[in-house]
Amino acid sequence: MDLSRFPRRRYSQGPTPLEFLPNFTRALGGPRVWIKRDDMLGLNPGGNKTRKLEFLMGDALAKGADTLITCGAPQSNHCRITLSAAVKEGLKCRFVIEERVPGSYKVDATGNNFMYRLMGVESITVVPGGSNMAEAMQKAADEVRALGRTPYIVPGGGSNAIGGLGYVDCAQELQQQLAEMGLGIDHVVVGSGSSGTHGGLVAGFLGNNIRIPIVGIGVSRDPSDQDPLVLKEAQATLDLLGVDIKVPREAVVSHGDWWRPKYSVPNPAMIEAVQMLARTEAILLDPVYTGKIMAGLIGLSRKGYFKPTDNVLFLHTGGATALHAYESVLLGDPQAVA
Ligand SMILES: *Cc1c(COP(=O)(O)O)cnc(C)c1O
Repeated sequence: MDLSRFPRRRYSQGPTPLEFLPNFTRALGGPRVWIKRDDMLGLNPGGNKTRKLEFLMGDALAKGADTLITCGAPQSNHCRITLSAAVKEGLKCRFVIEERVPGSYKVDATGNNFMYRLMGVESITVVPGGSNMAEAMQKAADEVRALGRTPYIVPGGGSNAIGGLGYVDCAQELQQQLAEMGLGIDHVVVGSGSSGTHGGLVAGFLGNNIRIPIVGIGVSRDPSDQDPLVLKEAQATLDLLGVDIKVPREAVVSHGDWWRPKYSVPNPAMIEAVQMLARTEAILLDPVYTGKIMAGLIGLSRKGYFKPTDNVLFLHTGGATALHAYESVLLGDPQAVA
């Protein structure tokens, strides 16, 4: 599919590495696990939001924006990477932070929050969990306009049709890599949150006739709530591209067994996954997203969801900056966390 007619900025150099994980595969006892290192994308350190922001920032600059407004949780990778892009382009950036866990926002917290301040976020407005974030961002945009400036609202997680183009691009990059490596992948495991990554990938696979099943792992919702969001995102992305495909319901599959007790709150399977990948491959996952997503891959493997001989690709979407806000829990015994 032709992405070249969309305005785009470049924040990464070349495709992200695609590697086999021999020690992790041995420790797991199969399937054969591969990793695509989208945690090595640009914007210090990047992650899946980097791909979406290449297109969102292209749009923002085309519209003459001088200030980005976005939203997220207190330890938001998305906010941090959006701020990085703003700094690089010489724009200002403001956040609306949703305190999904009451009392969880602390001005002097470490991890992503520290980076917000280090990179000079212009302002942070904290609102209670469950607030209407679109409205709160609109209000922030009005304040910027009142200063005679031009705001651009980046939706939560960078997930809209424009952001989805970033994962259409990832699908095309992956297709090329697999062809060059002569590698056949049987399943791709991807996190499913604000759904731009999962939905964009579904759009990219359908549009490029890539027949590999995509296994989504929910980080905040069960399939009954998550799948419709992903379907909508995939359809919106294909529509923006002008591709005449209706996303079939069965193209969207997610699993909801690994995100509890709550978005961003640790569970034993997440801690085991973070420790296991760090101790077998020296690759860092994060506590909020990729730790739970890898816990899903491990859990599905143990349940026999994959064949032992399958090649399963884990999409590493980044997030390690948040590790520092969870140090003691991640060094502890997984079973000690209920
Ligand atoms: C945002 C994020 C996700 C989820 O991606 P969505 O596109 O929001 O579904 C996964 N992993 C990491 C590290 C993230 O920051």
